Amino acid sequence: MTEGQIGESVALRLMERALDAQGLRHTLPRRTILEVVAGMGHSFTPTELTEQVARRDPHIGRASVFRLLQLLRGAGLVERLHSPDGELYTLCLATEHHHHVTCTVCGRTATFSLEDDDAVGRAVERVGYRMDHHVLQVFGVCPACLQRERPPGRPEAPQ
Ligand SMILES: [Zn+2]
Ligand SMILES: [Zn+2]
Ligand SMILES: [Zn+2]
Repeated sequence: MTEGQIGESVALRLMERALDAQGLRHTLPRRTILEVVAGMGHSFTPTELTEQVARRDPHIGRASVFRLLQLLRGAGLVERLHSPDGELYTLCLATEHHHHVTCTVCGRTATFSLEDDDAVGRAVERVGYRMDHHVLQVFGVCPACLQRERPPGRPEAPQ
């Protein structure tokens, strides 16, 4: 089993627990949707999710996918990311305060934390505000896409 698959089974277990908490039965369509969400290696739009689910089972409609997505979001297992291209979601099992960085090329998302997270609160105090909480999200290029950007056979920097 690869690391990704272990992550997937943990995600599946947590998502099934969220169904239980809402008193929802573990039907096959719901299981299919959860498996697709767990297998998403990147952030996704509701349309992408619906398309991937339909590839596994064309009988599962958009409404069922959306309902389950909102349930997972309510349970804190899926987060909505800010995106210039509309609605974007990511599976996120982190419970501690954290931030997301999203790849502008492939949509892969990673979490990170700031060494000095209190600096954000101090910065807003300088303009006279008291911070209640903050959301900080970064857009960039992931390691895999950076690798692809580099022309093959050429070293990164001249010797
Ligand atoms: Zn998160
Ligand atoms: Zn990428
Ligand atoms: Zn923070």
